[in-house]
Amino acid sequence: MTVTDEAPAGTIHRRALINGEWVEGSQGSFEVKSPFSGDVLGTVTACGPDDVDRAVAAARAAQPGWASVPLLDRVDLMYRAYALCKERNEEIAQTITREMGKTIRESREEMVQYACEHFRRAAEDVLRYRGQVLPSTEERTNNKRLLVTRRPAGVVGVITPWNFPVDIAAISICYAVAIGDTVVWKPSEYAPLSSAMLADIFVDAGFPPGVVNMVTGAGEVGAAIVEHDDVDVIAFTGNTATGERIARSAGLKRLLLELGGNGPIIVMPDADLDKAVEASILGCFYLAGQCCTAAERILVHDAVHDEFVRRLEDRTRRLRVGDPADDATDMGPLCNAGTLRKVRDHIKDARDGGATVTEIGVADNLLYPPTILTEVTEDMVIARDETFGPVAPIIRFSDPSEAIRIANGTPFGLNAALFTNSLSDAWRMAERLEHGTVLVNESTNYWDQLGPFGGAKKSGVGRELSTWMLDALTEIKHIVFDIGTDDHSHGGGAA
Ligand code: NDP
Repeated sequence: MTVTDEAPAGTIHRRALINGEWVEGSQGSFEVKSPFSGDVLGTVTACGPDDVDRAVAAARAAQPGWASVPLLDRVDLMYRAYALCKERNEEIAQTITREMGKTIRESREEMVQYACEHFRRAAEDVLRYRGQVLPSTEERTNNKRLLVTRRPAGVVGVITPWNFPVDIAAISICYAVAIGDTVVWKPSEYAPLSSAMLADIFVDAGFPPGVVNMVTGAGEVGAAIVEHDDVDVIAFTGNTATGERIARSAGLKRLLLELGGNGPIIVMPDADLDKAVEASILGCFYLAGQCCTAAERILVHDAVHDEFVRRLEDRTRRLRVGDPADDATDMGPLCNAGTLRKVRDHIKDARDGGATVTEIGVADNLLYPPTILTEVTEDMVIARDETFGPVAPIIRFSDPSEAIRIANGTPFGLNAALFTNSLSDAWRMAERLEHGTVLVNESTNYWDQLGPFGGAKKSGVGRELSTWMLDALTEIKHIVFDIGTDDHSHGGGAA
């Protein structure tokens, strides 16, 4: 994070949003640069713990009033924000591409298919979120009624990464405010300009002051939210190491942690190879591999290994890598120097360990060529850790049990994919994969916005999207009624 005093001429400056006001933080400003051109795009105010205090106080003060706004009025506001988001999709998509480098087609997908739709889905889901009435099992009367309902958890600290900066933030924020929580949000320092445009939508749609607050800055700002006594829930999406740090310092707060992955694609001998190749292209090279659900390992059966590799190389050679703002580009640059370093380190370790590395194109600053690695073994770092870059590491296997053992052999468990035409293999192998989502004959990078999303093992805690998201953002409330004996018995029927 480069700290600066003022925005260079011709660029924009964005502030933090606290209690409905756009304000300067206490720690100066930082620059936002294009990962493709290196140009400074703007500056953003840097907040400190005192700014977090003010934001949390505003969220706390606003929460009871917000939760008592009639549900239909909250839903109307969500729809107003949905309309604004649709109007602004294109300008926000352009900003995402400029500041974090995903291609403009990927940014449009992020806005149109995901971010924008969270407003509508949260509005719909909150209307259909139901409780239960249970019979009493404690005493032999007909006098007790047990009501199980949910109440908003309170103040939600939302901390988000740069790879889907608006989509991922919109999930937590939309569902939180729809159910009656208030929010203090820390966006990624690599995508604060598009994030501020999401915050604009809540202000312009007319959400009351304090319902959505945004504090910008680096990791310390997120840490201050996590450690704050007056925050009830942390909804964090990011790296597993950061998630573990958060889990250690969050105390007794409720946690929703969406963390890293190391997704395998398993290609069985009877698979449709062209389909498996397309899924691997999407899994390995979409967003230059910078997806939590990326295909980080491709496990290919010996019988089809050589043919699969040949087809994957041919298909990869047709990818157009370059300027992310160009509609024709298939793959843009990596987002930042730290990601580039990790990709290089993982490839070097694999090469040193005996893997064959085929780079399709040449590296140019943060533009990294799509890279296929063969003869990868389980002990290599690239097979064990999340690389988060445009790599397709291929591991051979000779029977389904070996494939399952390798696929389950890392600490991660987000998405796994399996290509086979055998219903029996598909069913049995899907059952044995220790992953939050298993996709049969589909890429790891396939998401359904109404399904539970989240990881097993070190890929996360809890599930997001739809009603699972509402479960994470509310507390169960149990109300016991004694309605007395039935004094108005009409005879002939149960109460
Ligand atoms: P990071 O964990 O580095 O950062 C995520 C957010 O946490 C950023 O806003 C960051 O601030 C902030 N942060 C950093 N340190 C702390 C701390 N100690 N306490 C609180 N907040 C902190 O992840 P990236 O932004 O690099 O995102 C990439 C990672 O996210 C990958 O591992 C990817 O797999 C994962 N991810 C998981 C998803 C899922 O749903 N499972 C979806 C998308 C990504 P800043 O960076 O501004 O300093």
